[in-house]
Amino acid sequence: MTEFGFIEQIRTRFASLPDNGFEGIGDDCAVLPIGGGESLVFTADLLTEGVHFLRAATTARELGGKSLAVNLSDVAAMGARPVATLLSIALPPNAADAWAAEFIEGYRELSATFGTALAGGDTTRSESGITINVTAIGRAPSANLKRRSDARPGDVIFAAGELGASGAGLRDILAGRCDTPQAAVHRNPQPQVAEGLWFGTRPEVHAMMDLSDGLASDLQHILDRSGVGAEVEVERIPVAPGADVRTAACAGEDYKLLLTAAPDAAERLAAEFAARFGSPLHPIGRITAAPGLVWLRNGKPEPLDWHGFEHY
Ligand code: ADP
Ligand code: MG
Repeated sequence: MTEFGFIEQIRTRFASLPDNGFEGIGDDCAVLPIGGGESLVFTADLLTEGVHFLRAATTARELGGKSLAVNLSDVAAMGARPVATLLSIALPPNAADAWAAEFIEGYRELSATFGTALAGGDTTRSESGITINVTAIGRAPSANLKRRSDARPGDVIFAAGELGASGAGLRDILAGRCDTPQAAVHRNPQPQVAEGLWFGTRPEVHAMMDLSDGLASDLQHILDRSGVGAEVEVERIPVAPGADVRTAACAGEDYKLLLTAAPDAAERLAAEFAARFGSPLHPIGRITAAPGLVWLRNGKPEPLDWHGFEHY
C-alpha cells in the first residue's frame, strides 16, 4: 500500500467516529476552532534513522533543528503562529549522552528563534535506530487560516522560494559529499514562519501548503482537495543553485511555501512580499477549472513523467 492509500484508509475507517470539533485529516495541520474567532492547529512529523536521515551524515545539533523545523513549516503553511511543541524520542544505546545533549541544543536554538515552548513529550529506549516524533501546535485567527482546498480557477500559483537545493544536497550526501552548500541546506531547513503568518493576513491568498514532498506531488494535493487543475510553466520554476529543474520539481524537503492567489491582486502581493522579505515570490503557473496538472514548455503542454516522493 502507498503512503496516501494508507492515509485514505484511515480517513474512511474513522469517518463515523466523533470529530469533537476538529476538521478532518488531509491538510498540513488539523484545525480546532476554540471560540473568539481563534483556532488551534496541530501537526506531527516523524523522522526515523535510515529513512529520513543518516546518523553519520548529520550532526545531532542539526537534526534537533530539523526535527522542529519540518513541523514549524506545516504550522506556517496554515498561516498560523507556532506556539508550542511536544518532543518524543527513542534513543538506542549507541546514541551517547553527548549525542542527545547536542540534539536538544539544536532543538532549543530553533525553539528560541521562533519563540515556541516545549510543552511535553516522551523519551524511551530503542532497540535499533533513532526515531523522533514532534507534534507542533499553532494558533491563528480562524479567518487567517489557509487550506489546501481553497484554490480557484484563474489563481496564480506562487512558490515562496527557490526549489531543489535540498534534493541536490541529498544527492550529494548519498554520494558521500556531506560538505557541499546544498548538503548543508538539506540538513538545515529554514521554515517560512514569518512568511506564512504574513500570507495568513492576506485575503487574496487562497490555498497554501508547504513543499515537503516535491512540487509535482504537493501541488497535486492542492488540486485534488480544491477540485481544480493547474498549468505550470517549467521555465518559471525557480531552480536553486546546484539543482536542475527536474530536481526542483520532484525532490522534496525544500520547505518553501506553495500558494495560490487571486489574479487581480497577485502582482501587488509579489511586490509587497519582495519588499518585506527581500526575496522574490515566484509565479510558476495558474489554476485551471479543467482537472489535471499540465507542464508547459514554451507555452505548450509537455508530457513529463514527474512525481514527488512518497515516504514508503
Ligand atoms: P505533510 O506532508 O504536510 O506532513 P502528509 O502528506 O504527510 O502531510 O499527510 C497528509 C495528511 O494525512 C495530513 O493531514 C496528516 O495529518 C494526515 N496523516 C498522515 N498520516 C496519518 C496517520 N497515521 N493518522 C492520521 N492522519 C495521518
Ligand atoms: Mg506540509
